[in-house]
Amino acid sequence: MSRVAVYTGTFDPVHLGHLDIIERGCRVFDRLIVAVGINPDKSPLLSIEERVALLRQVTAGFGNVDVEPFTGLAVHFVRQVGGSCMLRGLRTTSDMEYEFTMSLANMTLDPEIETVFLMAKDIYSHLSSSLLKQIAAFGGDLGKFLPGPAFMMIREKVKALQAES
Ligand code: ADP
Repeated sequence: MSRVAVYTGTFDPVHLGHLDIIERGCRVFDRLIVAVGINPDKSPLLSIEERVALLRQVTAGFGNVDVEPFTGLAVHFVRQVGGSCMLRGLRTTSDMEYEFTMSLANMTLDPEIETVFLMAKDIYSHLSSSLLKQIAAFGGDLGKFLPGPAFMMIREKVKALQAES
């Protein structure tokens, strides 16, 4: 039986910490679907189309990774694509509390879907999309944190926003 996992997130933008989880996750599962969602608590810098396009570009080299947008409950999306697991990345103990609650809620919603966690690599454990957006807004260099296409898109986006204001 082939094991399909879904890695959900906002990916605004995809950074090297996300990419590391995708690279390691696709070795564990037969197929990995990166599901790009809308987080009602966050106002994104990139549109969902831009986030999906970036992820498709940076995961093109992985033969068993697909990228899809999704709305609604993650467990419903996992069922819809024939998946059995949700993949999550864990950075710090503060992530732990949120992820623990989420995984319990998801288990209650659909007990047949398991959440699998991969610990963030130490070199990426400080990375978050929100922090990177703050650094970008103040003109900091994101070259060390973002894959090339994401770096270029964020640079253009920030330039355009600064020109507007
Ligand atoms: P959201 O905030 O909607 O969960 P993110 O795109 O920030 O979406 O994160 C998606 C997933 O990637 C989550 O499981 C998160 O814990 C994980 N993640 C985020 N940053 C890192 C990182 N630096 N290293 C490993 N995993 C990460």
